[in-house]
Amino acid sequence: MIVKGIGASNGISIGKIFKLYKEKITTNDNKIDDVEKEIEKFDHALFISELEIKKIRDKTVENIDKKHGAIFDAHIEILKDPELYSETVKKIKIEKLNSAKAFQSIVDKYVNIFKEMNNEYMRERAGDILDVSDRVLAHLLNIEIKDPGLLEKEVIIVAEELTPTDTVSLNKRYVKGFATEIGGRTGHSAIMARTLEIPAVVGTKKIMENSSDGDSIIIDGKEGLVILNPDEYQLKEYKEKENKYKEYKEKLKKFKNKESKTKDGKSIELAGNIGSPEDVEGVLKNGGEGIGLYRTEFLFMGKQYCPTEEEQFQAYKVVLERMKEKPVIIRTLDIGGDKSLEYISNVKEMNPFLGHRAIRLCLEQHDIFKDQIRALLRASIYGNLKIMFPMIATIEELRDAKNMIRICKNELVEEGVRINKDIDIGIMVEVPSTALLADQFAKEVDFFSIGTNDLIQYTFAADRMNEKVSYLYQPYNPALLRLIKMVVDASHKEGKWTGMCGEIAGNEKIIPLLIGLELDELSMSASSILKIREIIGKIEFEKAKTIVKQAINMNSNKDVEDLLEENFNY
Ligand code: PEP
Ligand code: MG
Repeated sequence: MIVKGIGASNGISIGKIFKLYKEKITTNDNKIDDVEKEIEKFDHALFISELEIKKIRDKTVENIDKKHGAIFDAHIEILKDPELYSETVKKIKIEKLNSAKAFQSIVDKYVNIFKEMNNEYMRERAGDILDVSDRVLAHLLNIEIKDPGLLEKEVIIVAEELTPTDTVSLNKRYVKGFATEIGGRTGHSAIMARTLEIPAVVGTKKIMENSSDGDSIIIDGKEGLVILNPDEYQLKEYKEKENKYKEYKEKLKKFKNKESKTKDGKSIELAGNIGSPEDVEGVLKNGGEGIGLYRTEFLFMGKQYCPTEEEQFQAYKVVLERMKEKPVIIRTLDIGGDKSLEYISNVKEMNPFLGHRAIRLCLEQHDIFKDQIRALLRASIYGNLKIMFPMIATIEELRDAKNMIRICKNELVEEGVRINKDIDIGIMVEVPSTALLADQFAKEVDFFSIGTNDLIQYTFAADRMNEKVSYLYQPYNPALLRLIKMVVDASHKEGKWTGMCGEIAGNEKIIPLLIGLELDELSMSASSILKIREIIGKIEFEKAKTIVKQAINMNSNKDVEDLLEENFNY
């Protein structure tokens, strides 16, 4: 069976399916007759949970490091907590309550106490308790736990959706590809797949109901195809394709230390997008000239509470130090939209992408914003930091955000902390209002970076996560090209520069347009850098400019796409 989806991350992967889903845990108030038996059941659930957590710990130490493994030692301590145990047993005995309900109510009591504490470390423990108790409850309720942390062999994940937290914990050693039902090319899981260089297809409707654990599967990330239970001819064909792709990747390596220049000598900077300090290696390995976008929200995910100023400082410092003198653009928190975090805001919004997101949220939740800005300023002396604000829609938002930098700078100087006082400050252009007013913004920023994932979604009024409207993801459309041109021209007029960090920056077919539009920097998933550098070397800047002039006066996405195909054949 062949399922068509959206190619999210290049490459071919052939393997066995691991279906990932989470069943909801619900307990009831049923009473029990046999107290001893119920306590035995509880003991057994604790025992099995401990074995599993130990296994996950060992795997984490083996695959990541000891520090990450230690998290699970803390989980084992929670599991063995004498109070948690004795109070649950007491409840079973006295109230004759079933063990799942008894355990859950005691856990809830402790979680609430921890959540109320002033000490951040203690508050974070509430999340750990919930993690552990979910596992125990699943065993008590006979719910199957699908645990990617327990993987022992290579698999291809099939899921309805991968949350940002799921994607953060994907282990590249065992996860060789994934296919999800929900999502578009610019959703977080697609972006993460490209960063990890794992072939992926998203938007594959009904793949869950048509597949089973252990089935054979082929993922073709370039064409956006998933083949379930392939026959031997298909397997042979795709094995060949897989080998060819590997050979091609090998060949690209020769571009690692080359300059990014067009055939007629126009330079353009090629940088990498990252989501965590670990991703820096990929950017350097692929010859990235800087970090064009560090999405700091991933530091906030998979947690129950915001990372502290110190924790953030350490992460930013590592990235800056590893990149040495190369520019590193760190974007302030972009939470909201598809990346919501309950501990920051649990208000359900009608239209999250149009709602309380990114800079809007930070300008209201000053404590969170301040911690981040202070961490950034403290890290500024360790490299070439540039700070960027996401989702700016009005000049007042920009001024308020800059004001926060001013306040934090003064505070830190007064505290005697050493900072770089001359940091470039830029904004993402993702909202059409900002593109239209770019001439005014250009007077108050040092640079722009165009976020086409959102700029396209807001220009065409099409949710980037909804595959039903994915036909409106129109990166060649002259409407978008005109907005980009306005921004680039406005910045150059003020002696500033414009980059692009949306996903089209790494799209080989669109590159001639981006060159012709005179963008100064392109930032993309690390895995795309070498390929884009190779292609730029084949393009003539003068010709690209001429094509842009024609494209801007056309009237459809398709016409511009055809124009490019006719003129650039590499
Ligand atoms: C964008 O919108 O293009 C962008 C780079 O930001 P994100 O994908 O994180 O929203
Ligand atoms: Mg964006």
